[in-house]
Amino acid sequence: MKMSKMYFHTLRENPSEAEIPSHILLLRAGMIRKLVSGIYGFMPMGFRVIRKIEQIVREEMDAKGAQEILMSAIQPAELWQESGRWYAYGPEMFRLKDRNERDFCLGPTHEEIFTDIIRSEISSHKQLPVNLYQIQTKYRDEKRPRFGLMRSREFIMKDAYSFDKDWEGLDKSYEDMYDAYSRIFTRCGLEFRAVEADTGAIGGSDSHEFTALSEVGEGVIAYCEQCDFAATTERAACVDEPFGENETELPLEEVFTPGKKTIDDVAEFLNIPKNKIIKTLLFKVEDEVVAVLIRGDRELNETKLINALGIPEHLLEFADENTVKEVTGADTGFAGPRRLIGVRVIIDSELPKMKNMTAGANITDYHLKNLNYGRDYEGDIIVDLKLMAEGYPCPKCHAEVKLARGIEVGQIFKLGTKYSVPMGAVYTDENMEEKIMVMGCYGIGVSRTMAAVIEQNHDDNGIIWPPSIAPYHVIVTIVNTRDQQQMELAETIYAELTKAGLEVLMDDRDERAGVKFKDADLIGIPVRITVGKKASEGKVEYKLRKESEIIELTTSEAMERAITFCFSSKM
Ligand SMILES: [Zn+2]
Repeated sequence: MKMSKMYFHTLRENPSEAEIPSHILLLRAGMIRKLVSGIYGFMPMGFRVIRKIEQIVREEMDAKGAQEILMSAIQPAELWQESGRWYAYGPEMFRLKDRNERDFCLGPTHEEIFTDIIRSEISSHKQLPVNLYQIQTKYRDEKRPRFGLMRSREFIMKDAYSFDKDWEGLDKSYEDMYDAYSRIFTRCGLEFRAVEADTGAIGGSDSHEFTALSEVGEGVIAYCEQCDFAATTERAACVDEPFGENETELPLEEVFTPGKKTIDDVAEFLNIPKNKIIKTLLFKVEDEVVAVLIRGDRELNETKLINALGIPEHLLEFADENTVKEVTGADTGFAGPRRLIGVRVIIDSELPKMKNMTAGANITDYHLKNLNYGRDYEGDIIVDLKLMAEGYPCPKCHAEVKLARGIEVGQIFKLGTKYSVPMGAVYTDENMEEKIMVMGCYGIGVSRTMAAVIEQNHDDNGIIWPPSIAPYHVIVTIVNTRDQQQMELAETIYAELTKAGLEVLMDDRDERAGVKFKDADLIGIPVRITVGKKASEGKVEYKLRKESEIIELTTSEAMERAITFCFSSKM
């Protein structure tokens, strides 16, 4: 491709709305264009990267026997009503009506649609297992779209759905996808970890998230260096540490704590450690009020709470001031577990074992000391509600857990029969008995993967694409386009490298060399061959985008190096 002919428009300034490197660089390099908040289009060079990631995905999916199809992004409400998710999905779903008032949505995911195809076309055990996938545009009406392709409202996703005869079959399908995903992200040049994850709105039993390590990631993973434990913090089980278990139970005592509303205030005022205080959080779940009790030095894991309550995420909200007053009889800041009327109480598993705790008295400006479980308060549900933190004991081996931030680029789920039961996806086995199909589903954020690769591969000057997904492998930069010798040599290099199977960009624009070098760095082409004054001697400059060194080589040496470099980099 000749750059003089290419549709290519860079930005000189950093776009003001972009906060993270991938967002800034994709906009500056003219690879994406914003339409409205959270919705982007791909320009020629950006789209080439998308297609390359898609191609890697296709090759690895096909290698596992999965078959590609393409379903509609518009989905009828009836199928979602059948699975029960029309109601459960919440405001993230783009909903619409047709001219006859029939409900539809723009698909955020496709479990229902794929289950519907399979149930109508597969009836015998001989037709199983099946794994179908598609690469398609998905929609989620994010509350806060941000970070460009990282959290957008429209995005490109690969989603796959496996249908097996039984759980053993699912285990095999899941393992195949785990393996395919590991190969896909490796080929894309990502540094990633596969970690245990929560199943969230998709549902099911086991799940792994593929997380690209990055400081700008919105996800946090916990891992252990002493064993193989690795999980998202949402998912990570926490160990109870109920110290003081053997203390003698002291008599309950009401203490005056004027204006002391936070855990820190109370700890300081009463001179007690934060871990001897119970934090009481009040939530509203539709018409019900729920109190959540957890140790004062812990953070609540909302995912664990949502799972314990068995509700969709969007139904959980903090109780407002009036509600707090109504159920506790006190101002906010003095809520506690005693005398809560008509409130369901969910208690972190560590509290019942702890003695002589302090909590709000449900009286303004008062706290209670020496609360003991069973004697002074009780709970309706006792469950681990703790959010994993750095240094907490590993749930497997009790060594100290480490945390890292990351970008979720893929997730795989063992759905089991969550969709096949309500939607009636059944088959007849060898004995002509009717059996339920066992499902898995597997997603990769294609556009998000593109952003994640940039987060891991960039510098102050721009993107540094790995050759496997670079829009072009080599850029031939001509210093002076009015010099006939330079033009001719560049054309030769262009033709020969193209013949060798590389994708070559030729910067033949009538611009200063400095501008061309800047653009080459910004768009991140892995190899740059500069044709300048020494063209008459058959010499060029060779530079890798990821290195600062510029080497003078003969034309054939430079081409040989470019070919070796690009083909050896897991293309
Ligand atoms: Zn461990």
